Amino acid sequence: MDKNFKEEFRQIIKFEPPLYKQRHQFVKDLVEKYKPKKVADLGCADCSLLWMLKFCSCIEVLAGLDICANVMREKMHTLSPLPVDYLQPSERSLTVTLHHGSVAHKDPCMLGFDLVTCIELIEHLEESELKKFPEVVFGFMAPSIVVISTPNSEFNCLLPRVTLYRHPDHKFEWSQAEFQSWALETARCYNYSVEFTGVGHPPTGMEKVGFCTQIGVFFRKYPQTGESLQSEKPMEAVYKTVFKAVYPSLKDEKYLQNAVISEVIFTAQIIKHRLMSKYEEYSDNPERKSKFQLSMDCFSDYLGKLVVEKNMEPFVSGNEVYIPLRTIFSFPKVNRLCGTFEKLCKLIAGKVTLSSDGSAVMFNIEHENEEN
Ligand code: SAH
Repeated sequence: MDKNFKEEFRQIIKFEPPLYKQRHQFVKDLVEKYKPKKVADLGCADCSLLWMLKFCSCIEVLAGLDICANVMREKMHTLSPLPVDYLQPSERSLTVTLHHGSVAHKDPCMLGFDLVTCIELIEHLEESELKKFPEVVFGFMAPSIVVISTPNSEFNCLLPRVTLYRHPDHKFEWSQAEFQSWALETARCYNYSVEFTGVGHPPTGMEKVGFCTQIGVFFRKYPQTGESLQSEKPMEAVYKTVFKAVYPSLKDEKYLQNAVISEVIFTAQIIKHRLMSKYEEYSDNPERKSKFQLSMDCFSDYLGKLVVEKNMEPFVSGNEVYIPLRTIFSFPKVNRLCGTFEKLCKLIAGKVTLSSDGSAVMFNIEHENEEN
């Protein structure tokens, strides 16, 4: 390659968005495409990829592993639930765990993952660790998908200030041929297929150097049969858990109950408000008011029957307003939260004031009547 031509590119190569963001976006796109429930990020460093992934609604279990506990600790608080997560618990469950340990060792906490990501990790491994890595990730963890990214050394000639490696901790950097031959051999050994791609496009006219970051996406060819499925036998834990966050979720009965109670009271208040504003309309006019009272009484009589028959219409009786649970249950949000009417009754029992037969939410409007 012409030396001046190379020098020219050294000045102008700047990735937008930055390369690390492009790598993380690549993983996020993959998650959105394949919708894995359990994702592990090996060599997770400051947890920035994990933080991005916690917003992917398909993920229920997120785990990070790094050999350096301090780098994980720096920003691990960003993986904790926020106040809003407690105010509005999500429908999915989410557990985020960080482990301190090496990808050269097997630990049972790494079993059962659907997707394992190793972003800019392998080039940090010592020769002995790199040797063990395929057996740990592909043989033992054996997820459906593995993503491995690593620098493409052929691109280095275009990067300013890179002499040997891009980072002082890199133990090696591979050309496209070197990475592909390692990846193909690993895939063959463990019954995976592999597709090559990358992020960080080379400049026009320099396509031959390939992507700045090379990526291999490995897909397991057959359903899991390996060690991970026979792992009934107890196995020693070697990683140390340094962080664990269990997000509030509506799958947890305690949060579901709170959400249902709030929604039932809110819905009942809305229905009551509508009923009472009708009543107020009538109350401006004494003649209409007495008619309304009469009609409400008839309404109540009629509703008395309905309550037995259909349990649907709200009604006023004396100083009490009754909003049938069946009506509340017919509101989409309550319906979606509870699933069945029986579940609704069970969740609010003893927590919301009900009519004596338990079929309606009851409000006393004595005070409101006085105001009127
Ligand atoms: N994946 C991150 C950062 C990669 S830097 C990102 O996308 O930005 C490589 C990380 O791998 C470092 O945090 C380093 O501590 C970790 N690492 C190095 N050797 C490791 C090993 N044997 N096991 C687990 N993590 C390791």
